[in-house]
Amino acid sequence: MATKTALVTGASRGIGRGIALELARMGGRIAINYAGNAAAAAETLAQVRAVGGDGFTVQGDVAVAADRERLVRESVAQFGRIDLLVNNAGVAPAVRADLLEAGEESFDRLFAINLKGPFFLSQAVARQMIGQAPDGEGFRGRIVNITSISAYTASINRGDYCMVKAGLAMMTKLFADRLGQDGINVYEIRPGVIATDMTAGVKEKYDRLILEQGITPIRRWGQPSDVGRAVRAILEDRFPFSTGAVFDVDGGFHLHRL
Ligand code: NAP
Repeated sequence: MATKTALVTGASRGIGRGIALELARMGGRIAINYAGNAAAAAETLAQVRAVGGDGFTVQGDVAVAADRERLVRESVAQFGRIDLLVNNAGVAPAVRADLLEAGEESFDRLFAINLKGPFFLSQAVARQMIGQAPDGEGFRGRIVNITSISAYTASINRGDYCMVKAGLAMMTKLFADRLGQDGINVYEIRPGVIATDMTAGVKEKYDRLILEQGITPIRRWGQPSDVGRAVRAILEDRFPFSTGAVFDVDGGFHLHRL
């Protein structure tokens, strides 16, 4: 298989790093985007190289138009093409607030980073991909959106987060529909509870729910590599006749159980 290239947003830590590492294991070259944590991004790059991949780190706030444009430009300058965009960067609300108390600042921040950023980055990358020659499998590119079980699970103390993830789920369908004719497949990966900095503050709560109460049939925390392996399968073209598909990487959380 020819060397594949990917732009992964928020790849300095957590799930994004897990994705970068799995793509590196197939020899991929990765643009490792981060917001402010240059040291963590450099550590991801070192780990990527240690498992057989390569790439570069690139600072950029996905909520900022000029930064998104630069991410695409630098990726193309380094790699010549972008085979895969992973819209992974995302933030949780700084404070969990009841629906009747929630403020506009958190709402605007989450919509900017978790939904506006991925939308316009996908638009820019799709334009780039449409101009690329098809690869060995006939693809001009692929796009993966990292949503969450919050796309369909109501949490009334972080409604803004749930709404942006539901929006990102719809965005997957829209781009899948628009880009199918252009040789670009689009997928949604819906992680459950994954052990990262984002969930570190609620570790005890989820330890109880997962390990004691069995909220998921598979009684363990998800790991960034669980998500990474799903993304890798997409870049390996395991799903060439699927687009707009949702992959639940959640230990079975989405099942209705009795
Ligand atoms: P994390 O450990 O907090 O890491 C967040 C990553 O996003 C970091 O690399 C961070 O860069 C980057 N980032 C934050 N704001 C950014 C911005 N404005 N522009 C560019 N990059 C930005 O989070 P995570 O748990 O890995 O979550 C990754 C994604 O998975 C998010 O979309 C999240 O909603 C989703 N998710 C997480 C879970 C979970 O249980 N952890 C479950 C479902 C879905 P810096 O290092 O520079 O700050």
